[in-house]
Amino acid sequence: MARCRNLTLVLMVLGIFATEAAAWHGRGHDLATRVALAALRNDVPAFFVAGTDTIAHCSLDADAFTRPIAPAELHDQEAPEHYFDMELLGGSPVPANRYAFIDFCAAKGLKPNKIGLLPYAVVEWTQRLTVAFAEHRRWPENPAIRAKCLVYAGLLAHYAEDLTQPLHLTIHWDGRARADGNSPRSGIHNKVDALLGKLPVDPGSVAKGWPIKPLGELLPAALAEIAQGRTLIDHVYELEAQLPGMDEPLDASGKAADFARERLDAAGKFLASLYLTAWLDSQKITLPPWYRQGTLAGQLSQDANAPAGKVLYRSQSLQKTNSP
Ligand SMILES: [Zn+2]
Repeated sequence: MARCRNLTLVLMVLGIFATEAAAWHGRGHDLATRVALAALRNDVPAFFVAGTDTIAHCSLDADAFTRPIAPAELHDQEAPEHYFDMELLGGSPVPANRYAFIDFCAAKGLKPNKIGLLPYAVVEWTQRLTVAFAEHRRWPENPAIRAKCLVYAGLLAHYAEDLTQPLHLTIHWDGRARADGNSPRSGIHNKVDALLGKLPVDPGSVAKGWPIKPLGELLPAALAEIAQGRTLIDHVYELEAQLPGMDEPLDASGKAADFARERLDAAGKFLASLYLTAWLDSQKITLPPWYRQGTLAGQLSQDANAPAGKVLYRSQSLQKTNSP
């Protein structure tokens, strides 16, 4: 959940980022992703749940696309995908898509990368996964399509989980914002980011019995989740004195642990609902006949009699048989 602005650069200069922050921030993403998949055991394809380790692995990748790991150009594009400072919209409705948002910002003299684009990242990655699932429905044995479903799901997991961290949703993202709008960089953000990964819980136990339902329209669903998360901003600041330092354990009986458990539930349920929505919506996607026609990616099959590694095109008749 690392919120990646200049803070990461400061930490890097201080020499404390690489050895510590990545690990515990990552543990929270890993755990929340496993909880979501544990909640979906019978609702999505078996290969998808079997790929839990890969999805959880990829759920950390979006932070690697920012400093201190990523080059500058990638960081500049990627970092705003991880937050959404709602106050800066001044009460205006959230535009329907990424470029409508950019137009809105231009008209208002606002900087899109200052506000952040997190809800759009969640919507767009859910829809990328939806398309990959549609390909899986058409070519269910294709290993490349299965692999990309897992990778896309991991990337979606990261943004969905960031969206449930209240300090990713506000100008008060690392201490109460100063009058000039700048953050005091109090250090509370890192303490909160660390909480999920400190919970000693089993993903299957956490998710046991959850009724996961698909979402309707994605952006309103993401904005509803943001609204819910923003109701907890004041609570986070009330907890500030009780938040353990980055290297300190979490008191399982304290209010900070209660907050962490509630947020883990929120992240797991939101992500599980996004996965289920992508799977169900993939039924509605029609892949045109020309799509991937004549390429190995679309129609390859492993011939059991062929030498190892050799791939063969399916026959035209088989392609038609496999068409929806
Ligand atoms: Zn992030």
